[in-house]
Amino acid sequence: MTEEKSLNFLEEIIEKDLKDGKHESIVTRFPPEPNGYLHLGHAKSICLNFGLSLKYGGYTNLRFDDTNPVTEETEYVENIKSDVQWLGFQWKNELYASDYFTQLYEFAETLIKKGLAYVDDSTPEEIAAQKGSPITPGSDSPCRGRNTEENLRLFREMREGKYKDGEKVLRAKIDMGHTNMHMRDPILYRIKHAHHHRTGDAWCIYPMYDFAHGQSDAIEKVTHSICTLEFVPHRELYNWFIEKLEIYPSRQYEFARLNLTYTVMSKRKLLQLVNEGHVSGWDDPRMPTISAMRRRGYTPESIRDFCDKIGVAKRDNLIDISLLEFCVREHLNKISLRRMVVFDPLKVVITNYEPGKTEWLPSENNPEGDQTTRQVPFSQVLYIERDDFMEVPPKKFFRLAPGQLVRLKSAYIIRCDEVVRNADGSISEIRCTYFPESKSGADTSGLQVKGTLHWVAASTAVPVEVRLYDRLFKVEDLSVMEGDFRDYLNPDSLKVISNAFAEPALKDAGGSDHYQFLRMGYYCLDPESTPQKLVFNRTVTLRDMWAKETKKS
Ligand code: ATP
Ligand code: MG
Repeated sequence: MTEEKSLNFLEEIIEKDLKDGKHESIVTRFPPEPNGYLHLGHAKSICLNFGLSLKYGGYTNLRFDDTNPVTEETEYVENIKSDVQWLGFQWKNELYASDYFTQLYEFAETLIKKGLAYVDDSTPEEIAAQKGSPITPGSDSPCRGRNTEENLRLFREMREGKYKDGEKVLRAKIDMGHTNMHMRDPILYRIKHAHHHRTGDAWCIYPMYDFAHGQSDAIEKVTHSICTLEFVPHRELYNWFIEKLEIYPSRQYEFARLNLTYTVMSKRKLLQLVNEGHVSGWDDPRMPTISAMRRRGYTPESIRDFCDKIGVAKRDNLIDISLLEFCVREHLNKISLRRMVVFDPLKVVITNYEPGKTEWLPSENNPEGDQTTRQVPFSQVLYIERDDFMEVPPKKFFRLAPGQLVRLKSAYIIRCDEVVRNADGSISEIRCTYFPESKSGADTSGLQVKGTLHWVAASTAVPVEVRLYDRLFKVEDLSVMEGDFRDYLNPDSLKVISNAFAEPALKDAGGSDHYQFLRMGYYCLDPESTPQKLVFNRTVTLRDMWAKETKKS
């Protein structure tokens, strides 16, 4: 049986538009404001916008919504571009709302000439008071009756820099009693004597978001302008501008924002985490940003798969972060190279193995993949995980214990004979016997064991640092918590193992490679890694350990 995915509501709209001949192909846009790094919510929007134009023919523009000169930086522009490409998408045109400043200015004059906009001298407080409330109508500004000529003159003077910040604004003349607050003479232009990252000092008036966004869509002939639900009440104004300016009729459609458990996804809050040093930067692997996920070892395929699985909702919802981790695991299981790394080493001496001898044993790179192998060195002194050994094991402990047998992965079966202690009583090493005829792939020993351990030969072991990441926050749904969101940061979100031992194949670890450290999870090399000190990030655990833990408590 083939599983046919039903269409989401946007696909339904687009299929109908194409069928009705309303459009021959579609144009969408991804419109980030360059005031922060992209996060998983943006990834959702990117997959949606680019996914639709790929599916239905057409293209997607990358448009920087850079109408606010104060918060925007070129650094963000470059990062946004590389994030979109890393996710696997290519825009048709790289555009900037600021490129339309002249055109937008002309639109504003058109509205003035039509008697649909006026210059207002009211202070921000007065304008707020004039707005009324959702249950009471607003009141007209004393400047509302200005004639066209005066409005044009004043607006031009605003542009020429005759007035100070906040002294005047340009407002649309709609209806101060409108049931939709956004229609109560919204501000179109404000004065801001500020340097802009692209237009420099050419302008001292800047269009408001509502006036810039829809008009940019129209200029680009965007057919389907997809945004998040908070813009539903703006849609009426979006359409009003199109009607009054008689420009290309782009249509706005809204979907629900992506919210994820155990994290925050507002740029403002993420910026706070960065600025206050709660994380090491925008790309700290605990952050929900795309650059952080890349550094942590998430793959673009797994993020696209996640965005596909969550679908497009029309109502706000909270997605479980473990679904994202599931997608990451699924992909990494297929592509990652298997390697052995011991995090908390316990020395094992094989008493019947020839001292100084090293045997290179083949071990599979990926049982799900291409059947290639690497060579792993075996010698007399080895390391295993400290907690893979117990002196007094409970029942069903299938790992190493006195007198008990266990297999070393891709090597031999060993038996623990003796425990050697330090003066303080702690274990310094355990002494074992190996069974030469039990070699993996050629086992004629007839011995039965229930456990297989990962291990590393001591003489060739490579010391590495391993960074274990956990949830950034302690609580599932931050939106329902009282107080400051930073009160809920998880103090154990990063654990550093500074002296783990890796098998020598990891000396050649590459920046883009993904690894499964046997029994320890999925890992990748961190950009801070150097040949002298290899540093690995845990991308994700092998199983959903958190789900089990929270259920227990
Ligand atoms: P934030 O609230 O994080 O500052 P934003 O909406 O202000 O986000 P923009 O740069 O304006 O950020 O967003 C670019 C595009 O990404 C917009 O179309 C926006 O609707 C979409 N987007 C932002 N956050 C999410 C989210 N959590 N889920 C889905 N889409 C999102
Ligand atoms: Mg925004």
